[in-house]
Amino acid sequence: MTEMRSFLYRLSMALVLVLLVGCGPSAEKATFQFEAMGTVAGCDLELPSSLSRDSAQTMISALYDSVNTVFSIWQENTELSRLNRAPADSAISLSPWLKECLMQAKEIHKVSEGAFDPTAEPLLRLWGFYQRAGRLPSANEIDGARAAMGRWDFDEEGRVVKKSGETRFDLGAIAKGLALDLAVARLQSAGVENGLVDLGGNLFCLGGASGRDDWRVGVKDPLNKARYFATVNVTGLAVATSGSYERFVTIDGKRYGHIMNPATGRPSEGVLGVTVLAPTAQLADGLSTALFVMGPVAGKQLLGALTEKVSVIMVVPGEANNPDRVLVTPDLGNRVKVLPEYASQYHLEVWH
Ligand code: AMP
Ligand code: MG
Repeated sequence: MTEMRSFLYRLSMALVLVLLVGCGPSAEKATFQFEAMGTVAGCDLELPSSLSRDSAQTMISALYDSVNTVFSIWQENTELSRLNRAPADSAISLSPWLKECLMQAKEIHKVSEGAFDPTAEPLLRLWGFYQRAGRLPSANEIDGARAAMGRWDFDEEGRVVKKSGETRFDLGAIAKGLALDLAVARLQSAGVENGLVDLGGNLFCLGGASGRDDWRVGVKDPLNKARYFATVNVTGLAVATSGSYERFVTIDGKRYGHIMNPATGRPSEGVLGVTVLAPTAQLADGLSTALFVMGPVAGKQLLGALTEKVSVIMVVPGEANNPDRVLVTPDLGNRVKVLPEYASQYHLEVWH
């Protein structure tokens, strides 16, 4: 009897504890947007009591500014601009962020068999992407730019990089992912467990939205970037999307997208958009660009060669008058939903 009373007492105390926790003050929500790294950054966070909205924003905005002083190629004084100006065969020490990013870039370059190339700068310049004035280069010019690509490496310790004089980096396909990973790590150390962190369309989904254990993320319509055509449920992963609609130049009335196919030296065509879900934003960002260039056949091989678990949504044009095809890796079969108003335009298929 005594034992039973003590059991009931313990049970009632446990219930009181659960109720107290359950009735605690609800966590404060904070949603904010600001400009960073030449794009729009946003956060939708559930804040712990120790972190105010303003300090969260200041912390993340200062972080992105620091990342920009390493990776921007629009400013002369950044670490990457200095590396780009370095003369041939000079050995250059790298800061930890640049080293990490270049190592990941090299890895994706290798596994994508060159479709992802962090040295596409000469091609992008040739086609007028930096000048924002497109021009159709000659075959000779394209060959010249391609010859300047890829001539760089680390030394044995991975501390320095040696490059040819003409090899110039553009890490626009991956640096935002690195910045996002750093932001997520800082928010987590500050106690944030639930939040959606957005850097120019690169997302990281921490925990879940209010009352949910995941986030429902919209997938951009590749033919109208102001809208999304599908949703995917995500938690604890990064989501990156690549599409030629994001940045393009117009030459003789034709649009050319900003993702180059290093094999041809021309803007990549054939895929409409790619969304990648991966454990880190850097990987998701790099792979979305790589898969955009590779397309469904080579892309499938790339996915088979990866050690990390990665999920993909690839939109490719349908044949003749058929709807465009939305290829999703098997694990996403139940998690991607095409919105009803898009059902006749996009056809969902499991990508085997
Ligand atoms: P994203 O929007 O992440 O797919 O990145 C596109 C950006 O990556 C472009 O604006 C260029 O700065 C750069 N880029 C273009 N083509 C390539 C390529 N084949 N490999 C790596 N980066 C590229
Ligand atoms: Mg990318």
